[in-house]
Amino acid sequence: MIERKLLAGLDIGGSKVLAVAVDTGTPDGRARVVESVRLNTGLGPEGVVDTAARALTALARKLAARFDGRLDADPDGRLDNGAPALPRQLFSGVGIGIPGLVDAARGRITHAVNLGVGPGGLALAELLGRRLDLPVVVENDVNAAALGAASHLRLGRVDMAYLSIGTGIAAGIVLDGELRRGPHNAAGEIGHIPVDSAGPLCSCGQRGCLESVASGSAIAARWSTREGSDLPSGQDLFDAAAAGDLAARALRDEVADSLAAGVRMLALTVDVDLIVLGGGVAEIGEPLRHAVAKALDRQAAGSDFLRGLDLAARLTVVPRDQPVAAIGAALLAIDPPLSQIDPDAELVPGVLAGDLPA
Ligand SMILES: [Zn+2]
Repeated sequence: MIERKLLAGLDIGGSKVLAVAVDTGTPDGRARVVESVRLNTGLGPEGVVDTAARALTALARKLAARFDGRLDADPDGRLDNGAPALPRQLFSGVGIGIPGLVDAARGRITHAVNLGVGPGGLALAELLGRRLDLPVVVENDVNAAALGAASHLRLGRVDMAYLSIGTGIAAGIVLDGELRRGPHNAAGEIGHIPVDSAGPLCSCGQRGCLESVASGSAIAARWSTREGSDLPSGQDLFDAAAAGDLAARALRDEVADSLAAGVRMLALTVDVDLIVLGGGVAEIGEPLRHAVAKALDRQAAGSDFLRGLDLAARLTVVPRDQPVAAIGAALLAIDPPLSQIDPDAELVPGVLAGDLPA
């Protein structure tokens, strides 16, 4: 027998799926990844469900090897309904973070263009849940990452925003420890707020959207034009700037100015305590936080109002080694399965609701 079940979290991206097994019963109360598996993403509705099922089965097998001799089920066994026995024995629930328009209440996604899921949509929670005989919850990947970051930083009932700077830009907003999705699931979609009326045309049809000037793809396009190389990353830009390249410094500061505008929008709209920078571009780490903080200070220089809000001090960057989207997705699967397994674990509701010890 195993002592307690784990939560499974999936971060489904356009090219890779990361599956993690999360233990929430750790002594320090912090959700901890105990095993992980990465697979290439299969596309289309069938491909997405199939990849998710294979990732979870592979994750369960990796864990089973460690629980050797303490499992009830035959690792290759099947339940009466045909589902593999292992995931059900190891996981109490599955949470999925996925791009696109997510109807979290129904576990459905639509318009996940990079995954080949169109307006017809995909009933992901239902299809995967039936295949594995497990409860499955589905959430937008940025929202899941926001919860994962809040949990990792042990923020409890705080108001925070997670600004995801990747291929696109979007924010996840957590108010009083709970996700704010909005009635149209569009809360935090600040990537499509125009910040430069003379900026490039955005895929959404507007001009100069935040994500068309400061996302990872925008940085790659803007820096490769100047460098002549193909598809550099934000890290390449920051490296060149740190090495003294004047054009790189100018572009880095422009990007930081645009991101600072995004931070200002979030802070002035929902007055959050903390803004966490995440997504692929945030793998730059502290130099990115520093550049955006400096931009915030520059923008506040002539405004007593902005200076008084001290936005630079509310900025942080997600730790590079933390798969926050997968962790946050797993934590969304807590209620009710985990509470039924271990009603005495104080931290179980606390991870999301905020009763964590300091
Ligand atoms: Zn746009």
